[in-house]
Amino acid sequence: MVEKHHDPFVAGIEAGGTKFVCAVGNGPENLNRKEFPTENPAEVLANVTQWLGEQQRIRGKLEAIGIGSFGPLDLDERSQTYGYITSTPKPGWKNVDLVGAIRMAFPGLPVGVDTDENAAALGEYRWGNARGLQDFVYVTLGTGIGGGGMSGGRLIHGLVHPEMGHMLLPRISGDTFAGVCPYHGACWEGLCSGPAIRERTGLPAEDLPSEHELWVIETQYIAHAVANILYVLSPQRIIIGGSVAKAGQLGSVRFFGMIRRKLETALNNYISSSAVQEAMDSFVVPPLQGDNAGILGGIALAQMCID
Ligand code: ZN
Repeated sequence: MVEKHHDPFVAGIEAGGTKFVCAVGNGPENLNRKEFPTENPAEVLANVTQWLGEQQRIRGKLEAIGIGSFGPLDLDERSQTYGYITSTPKPGWKNVDLVGAIRMAFPGLPVGVDTDENAAALGEYRWGNARGLQDFVYVTLGTGIGGGGMSGGRLIHGLVHPEMGHMLLPRISGDTFAGVCPYHGACWEGLCSGPAIRERTGLPAEDLPSEHELWVIETQYIAHAVANILYVLSPQRIIIGGSVAKAGQLGSVRFFGMIRRKLETALNNYISSSAVQEAMDSFVVPPLQGDNAGILGGIALAQMCID
């Protein structure tokens, strides 16, 4: 393949709750990736830095490293704990200095960090379904639920960073599930994440039969959440990725179809825009880069440090 651009050669790290994905390269056509399970922090970080060091020796000097991480994260550059994972319920990961560990292993290299959601959003902005958009949201439905994106062409931050997965949703009549969020019980993540599906049914999302009633409940909650996001941020598009959004035996096509229909019902023609009134199929979409959106976002975050 002919190299079409001269984007810098960098490393990306997608720090997820179940696995760390690392890659070196400069875009989707030049990406070497490796995964490590998210065990204890010292072990994972040693694996990651060792692999990146090897890649650097084999493939050439890295110009920067970009990290998209699960959180909550401290992204305030003036803070003593900048780049730390903060109040996560994930055992062993509270107050881990993620950026510091990478900086220590690669002294002098610029390191960029953002939430895993903003990283995936950036990956889709550079190489996927958010190209050319200034206002969009990326939601992950997986082990956790979270959202990031851009507002006015800038990645959304704020007091800390958005925590869309913990929004409260109206109870669907007849659904008495207590929820699995250790902080809020029945928030969006508590009701609809992968662990919530397993707790509700005894099955992981990928094994849930396509006719299971939970898909109806699940897509109804998602449609409410997407409507709330639309009302609050007015994005031009909402991209939904993650393991739950693959929807196992139901399949992604039917899953997205159900969300779009329920979203139309929830909006009830209140938002006067052809994007939702006539082009719903391209308003709520899966990521073009699929499972690579997040790691490509890490690559893009690294490249942004150089510019
Ligand atoms: Zn919650």
